Amino acid sequence: MDIELLKKALIREKKARKEAESILEKKSLELYNANEQLKDALENTNLFSEQNPNAVMRFSKQTKDLIYANKQGKKISLFLNRSSNSKLKEKFIQELNFSFKKVGVYQFDLQFNNKTIRFFAIYILSKKYLNIYTADISDLKETEVQMQNITKRFKQAQRVAKMGSWELDLINNNMIWSEDLFYVLHVDSEKFIPSHENYVNLLHPDDHKLANEAFEKAINQKKGYILTQRRIFDDRKDLYIDCRGKVRLGKNGNVTRLYGICIDVTEKTESLKAKENFTKNLEIKVNERTQELKESLEREKELSILKSSFVAMASHEFRTPLTSISAASDVILKYFDKLGKEDITKRLIKIKNEVKDMTIMLEDILIIGKSDVQKLDYNPEVLDIIPLIKHIIFEYQLSESKSRNLTYKISLPSIMASVDKKWIKHVVVNLLSNALKYSEKNTPIEISMNKYKTRVVFGFKDYGIGISKKDIKLLFEPFHRGENVGEISGTGLGLSVLQKAVELHKGKIEVESEIKIGSNFKVTLPIT
Ligand code: ADP
Repeated sequence: MDIELLKKALIREKKARKEAESILEKKSLELYNANEQLKDALENTNLFSEQNPNAVMRFSKQTKDLIYANKQGKKISLFLNRSSNSKLKEKFIQELNFSFKKVGVYQFDLQFNNKTIRFFAIYILSKKYLNIYTADISDLKETEVQMQNITKRFKQAQRVAKMGSWELDLINNNMIWSEDLFYVLHVDSEKFIPSHENYVNLLHPDDHKLANEAFEKAINQKKGYILTQRRIFDDRKDLYIDCRGKVRLGKNGNVTRLYGICIDVTEKTESLKAKENFTKNLEIKVNERTQELKESLEREKELSILKSSFVAMASHEFRTPLTSISAASDVILKYFDKLGKEDITKRLIKIKNEVKDMTIMLEDILIIGKSDVQKLDYNPEVLDIIPLIKHIIFEYQLSESKSRNLTYKISLPSIMASVDKKWIKHVVVNLLSNALKYSEKNTPIEISMNKYKTRVVFGFKDYGIGISKKDIKLLFEPFHRGENVGEISGTGLGLSVLQKAVELHKGKIEVESEIKIGSNFKVTLPIT
């Protein structure tokens, strides 16, 4: 074979091989494409399953046209195209355009008649198309609305009940308060950081200990608690808050969470307190009234005793002076011509003295009859008691037939005090007449007057019959007379009157006495 022919044959073969290669390449590309299409078709038949009750749609990025759709997808597309509701279509197109710009899953809801359809759009960049899947969420939507209504009603109920809730995650030390708890406790939700410590700081200092103890007990003893605490303010009334806490345990059995509610119970607590106060006041009033009734009953009793004692005393004590007045006047009338001037005067003085004694007696009875000291006439004035007492004694002695030996012990030239002259006369006359009456004529009577920082003291000391211990206790009771008085006349009223006089001056009276040795009566009065 010649070389030229061989060369030509080689070139032809090379060319043929190249052609064959390019055909092969073309064919394999076709095969590859066919394979890819087959794969897509397979995938699409899975993806765009006709049985799928939810719509599956694919839109082209370039034309924005629907490329694929399953049965449900076609239905939606048809509905949108034919729908008289242009707004719905507009909204769909708007959302579609949005979806092409989003990365990941973009979702939107559309309302088809009574149904709410949720669209999940995924833009596949490499393929330049958008897959859309739908789900009928009408039921979900209804549940959502119901949930919203329940939450709304729950919130309203919380507002009405003035209640808020809280939860404390002990592991992360994170506390959450419901919006209403801020409202219930009147705390600014923007500024306040919920924590146990910050909560305690809102309370009355007296409630801090209790709140902290309950909190620690809940954690250590795994026990819930109920506490009423006071929320305090600078500018408004305290609130009473019922705080209830419960525990939640973790896997290891330790408390991991505390949760609870706080309720404003101010109105309830206040009305309870008002009720309690009302009951208490009522009780006090009832007790007061009972006491008053008891006292008035006691007074009634006293008065009735007084009356019977008075009758007994009057029949005896009035008879004696009246008999001697009658006897003296009889003698004067009968023997007026025969009696000398001196005899008549003697009898007239006797009558006068008896009348004086009866007048004192009657006055005493009137004073004792007034059971309430406040009702007695009392007009104090500041004066020197030394001349006052001396004058009363002088006047008293004038009417006595024989004056007794009186000694004075006075430490100061003058003793000023605020006293009622009329009542001081009662006191002095009574003490002096008793000292004279209950002692022998030849024994002295010592009268003392002293002044201390805020009080004046005056006393009458005698060396007479004295008073027994038993009688001293009852000395100031009206009509009480000592067991040793014997024939000495008296009403048992003088010292009761004296006590009233001392009471009016806010002073006191003291007695020191011993049988057959003598008695010492001391009156102490405040200076003003
Ligand atoms: P009266 O002297 O009219 O009986 P009083 O009320 O003045 O009534 O005194 C009550 C009683 O106190 C007297 O009855 C007497 O027993 C006793 N008493 C009072 N002063 C003295 C006194 N200085 N010495 C002894 N007993 C006295």
